[in-house]
Amino acid sequence: MAKSLPNLAQRVITWQRQYGRHDLPWQNTQDPYRIWLSEIMLQQTQVATVIGYFNRFVDRFPDVDSLSNASLEDVLLCWAGLGYYARARHLHACAQQVVALWAGHFPTTAEALQTLPGIGPSTAAAIAAFCFGERTPILDGNVKRVYCRFFGVKGDPTSRVVVQQLWQRAKESTPIEALTVEQPDAMARFTQGLMDLGATCCTRRQPSCERCPLASDCVAKLSGRTNELPQPRTQRVMPERSTIMLLISRQIPDLAHGETCTNKMSADKVIADTSDNVNVLASKANTDVARHNQAVLLYKRPAKGIWGGLWTLPECRLAGDFNITTHQLTTTQLPLTAVKRHALKQKNTHTHTKLITNTSAIESSSKLIVEQWCTKHAIKNPTLLSMAAFRHTFTHFHLHIQPWLVEINDEVGFDPQTADETMQWVRVDQLHRFGMPAPVQNLLLNFTML
Ligand code: SF4
Repeated sequence: MAKSLPNLAQRVITWQRQYGRHDLPWQNTQDPYRIWLSEIMLQQTQVATVIGYFNRFVDRFPDVDSLSNASLEDVLLCWAGLGYYARARHLHACAQQVVALWAGHFPTTAEALQTLPGIGPSTAAAIAAFCFGERTPILDGNVKRVYCRFFGVKGDPTSRVVVQQLWQRAKESTPIEALTVEQPDAMARFTQGLMDLGATCCTRRQPSCERCPLASDCVAKLSGRTNELPQPRTQRVMPERSTIMLLISRQIPDLAHGETCTNKMSADKVIADTSDNVNVLASKANTDVARHNQAVLLYKRPAKGIWGGLWTLPECRLAGDFNITTHQLTTTQLPLTAVKRHALKQKNTHTHTKLITNTSAIESSSKLIVEQWCTKHAIKNPTLLSMAAFRHTFTHFHLHIQPWLVEINDEVGFDPQTADETMQWVRVDQLHRFGMPAPVQNLLLNFTML
């Protein structure tokens, strides 16, 4: 048990003033909009990645009114590449509720903030502490790690019992009222200090205890268990799924529907605000003469579910009933023995995407499927080219993706655009106007460079 709990808050506050982070784009403000946005973006995403997205987002949507008035499609376009897209959908819904139910002003207590979409207890507490000085505890992933080590909390830190213990510790550690009266910025400093400690000092591996203001009382440090706490999560065996993505391209001159695509987004403003990856896509598309006169077929996913509301590529599956306008994530049971063997050797990375180097098994299996699909959809004599297979990891499963380039040479009889608007032919130089997940952005980037 740690000894000097009453001093914990003051030590964190003093340390934050001297050694904490002070120049992040969402700091030095009490604007709930900017702080809320940063807290949502920082969930499951590193600070270094968030900074660029945050700056582009606030340029595009400077306040809650502009965000609430935007289309979800514009919001997703600004979010494209950041992942965990439910966050963007909740962000949009939250902005609309703040305008509709709170007259455009964020509520000022953690309790009321939690009633808004996408705002959980720790995020609500962080906003309330930073913006309104409320004495309320936070418990994000980094802070859990600090408390587990400092208090020597054993057990699975994701289990309900341990989380309850940690919330109790967090409440006990919150600055007392007298401290916040004496130091009006105490809650903001303390909250930021805990975040900074977790991110820069009490890191997952090899914590820098020698720089930590809590080291003299830290149970993990004193008992030599910094490598054992928090208890490592039990490794889950992630299900493996697979799919074939079709990058269907055709020449532009007789593009029947493509011109409508260029009007879908709020054009130039959006172009300037898209992610780094999409900006690269834009510049490649605009400079690559070979692909400049081509269009590709994009598929808009349903609003909810994997990559909800984003534009991706049509997919096909093993069975013969594929409907090009399907609203399902079409995963298959392809014989992926070789792919699995190689994919399992890969280590996780920040992008959650792995290139699969030995693709012969999936290539030969999937070519037949793609040929059958083309026949079924009246695509005559297409040029087929397999692209590099890769694995993308979602929260709950790995998805093996075998992309195929399908170049349409004779399009008589092929019309993928049905009554709904989930399919669009898009000129290569307009692709950057569509919000896409990172793996699809990368595929299209490769395509424009072929
Ligand atoms: S002393 Fe080390 S293990 Fe303990 S809280 Fe500080 S950095 Fe983490």
